[in-house]
Order: sequence, then structure tokens, then C-alpha cells
Amino acid sequence: MNTQQRSEQFVATTYARFPVTFSRGKGSLLWDDAGKEYIDLGSGIAVNTLGHADEAWAVAVHAQLLQVAHTSNLYYTAPQAELAQALCSRTGMRRVFFSNSGAEANECMIKTARKWGAGRSTIVTLEGSFHGRTIATLTATGQPAMHGDFAPLPAGFKYAKPNDIADLQAKLDNSCCAVMMELVQGESGVLQLNKDYVQAVAELCKANNLLLLIDEVQTGNGRCGSLYAWEQFGITPDIVSTAKGLAAGLPLGATLFAASTCDVLGHGSHGSTFGGNPACCAGALHVLHRLDDGLLADVQAKGEYIRAKLQALPGVKSISGMGLMIGIETVKPAKDIVAECLAQGVLVLTAKDKVRLLPALNIPMELLEKALDVLANCL
Ligand SMILES: *Cc1c(COP(=O)(O)O)cnc(C)c1O
Repeated sequence: MNTQQRSEQFVATTYARFPVTFSRGKGSLLWDDAGKEYIDLGSGIAVNTLGHADEAWAVAVHAQLLQVAHTSNLYYTAPQAELAQALCSRTGMRRVFFSNSGAEANECMIKTARKWGAGRSTIVTLEGSFHGRTIATLTATGQPAMHGDFAPLPAGFKYAKPNDIADLQAKLDNSCCAVMMELVQGESGVLQLNKDYVQAVAELCKANNLLLLIDEVQTGNGRCGSLYAWEQFGITPDIVSTAKGLAAGLPLGATLFAASTCDVLGHGSHGSTFGGNPACCAGALHVLHRLDDGLLADVQAKGEYIRAKLQALPGVKSISGMGLMIGIETVKPAKDIVAECLAQGVLVLTAKDKVRLLPALNIPMELLEKALDVLANCL
């Protein structure tokens, strides 16, 4: 039995996979078990911020593994405390809760909003949003097609149309405690919210004593050309969730609290056995160190380069997204393009009916150009 047969027989049937088994990576290159080389424009869905097998990142994680990998949250560890401080000083947020995934970071955000609401429990999210796969975050996800099999879902969620402030206003009532949204909806097609709309939502939240919850699981950690995307929208969220690229390949979620919410969760009100373990935090500390102004400027420049190059192609209808989070509306079906690129050694993703690019933030220009030539041919 080879790996693919073994996986099909023994791993749960939740994933429809491409018939490729990866055995090694370096930077933005991956090799399958037959030795075929691929340029990775997907980064494990926005996770491998620094590409694969980054030397300095691995050294930082390894050094921590040889000190202590896990202690539980009954005790203090330096990497967790230092990472929380670094996140706060880079964002102006006040405290951080650490978990292991995006869904968990959002669960924490939802629990905090409800405790803060003291009886007001409804959270308004946006149609087409994606917030995770746990029961509460699935319910927060504004995609009814994903809800069907899992009833009964928890009460207390409502959905408003993106970029439609009147619709949001109409959905608000005195049961509401918060509005929760992605600034660029990733899974539903790299759909960017208008800056005017986001600012109007922030004002509406202030006027109605509601929390503004921003899901930066995918948009965060440099992906959109700033450490967090909200910095580019002129708003200050009450809570921000993030995960995916935070530790560049290790599982780590973080929920960042502003002054308005930083003392809502008291002792015993929330927790995680693994969350914020020192090995993952050491990885994330290294990522933050690497995400300096130079790298963030590169993300913006490379994003603009990709847009300019693709916009000119006849196979492209439109381009969306920010920084290195890019959606391409194509003439040919996105699925066919992904399959053709894969055959030609380039990994790209879909987001609904679009082609989606999420390359490593430090992808070398030569590899990016080479991969875009292949993509252009397939388009
Ligand atoms: C991926 C994603 C999640 C869920 O993250 P997991 O780590 O898979 O639980 C939540 N919100 C957004 C915006 C995401 O892109």
C-alpha cells in the first residue's frame, strides 16, 4: 500500500485530495515523492508565511523544543509571555488568549463577546463569511449550504449582506452584542469589504454599544501587506482573531483584546491545554521578528506586480484581494486551471469559483515570475 492508498483507507473521508504526496520543501518549492518539483503559490492555505523548512525559523523552534515543548497553562513560559507582549506592542491591543487554530480563536472571540454582552448575546456576521468548522464558528459562518447536516445549531447568530450598511442596520436589535467579519472574505472568493463600509460598521458599533470583532485568521500576519489588515481600514477593533500564518506552519491561534475587552475573561472562564505552548510561540516570535517594514513593503510590491501582470491577460475577468491574498475571476473554470497548473508544477488554490493565490510572503521574484508564466499559460 502506498501513502495515498493508506490514507484513503484509514484517514476520515472529509477531504477530496489531489493525487500528490509531498515529501520535502524548501522556501517556495515543494517536491513530491517521485521527485517532481512544484512552485507553491498556496502556502498550505496561507500558513507557510516564510515558505517551507525556513532555516532560522526551524532553529528557533528547535532550540525551544530542546528547552521545553509543553508545560500546560498552569505555569508561565517565556515564549508565550514574550509573544503576547510583541503582539500587543505591534498592534496596540492589550491582552492575548492563545489557542491552536482559527476556529478556536473565533470561539474565544464569540465567548468573550457574549460574556461582555451580559445578556445581549446575538452576533451579526456577514453572508458568505467563513469563521471555522466547530459548531459555533460554523453557525457564525454565513453560508447556509454548510449548515444543513449539523442541526440543531446554537442560537444567537444573524447574517447581513456585505458592503450594505442599511442591511446591517436593519438586522440590529437589542439582543445584539457584536458584529463579526473578515475584511477580505477568503474562502468565499477573496471578496474585499469597502473601506467606507467598514468604517460605517465601526461607527454603527460605537453608536449602538456593540463590539467590533475582526476575523484575521487568513488576512493577518502580513498577508495583506500590513501586520493585520484592519490597520489599512482606519478602524480599531475590540477583538481580533488570528491563526493560519501566525507561527508559519505550527498550530497557533490568538485572540487579541483591545482595552474594551481585555479583562472580560476572568480566571476559569476559558482555557486550552495546548494553547500558547512554548514551541509554537517560539515559532511565532520568530515570524513577528521577520515581519518587519521591509518584508511588509515587499508583500505590497509583489501583490501589485501580480495584479499588473494578470490583469492584462485575456483569460482574466477581474482580480480582487489585498497584498499577497489574491482572487482571480477567470474565463475558464477555476478547477480546470488548478489541475493544469498542478500538472505543470505550480500549486494554486480555488476560493469558490475563483483561482486564489496565497504565496509565501518571502517568495523569491524569480520563482514568482516562473510560476506566473505557467499560470498565464493555463489561464
Ligand atoms: C481558515 C479560517 C478559519 C478557520 O481556521 P482553522 O484553523 O481551520 O480552524 C476561520 N476564519 C477564517 C477567515 C479562515 O480563513
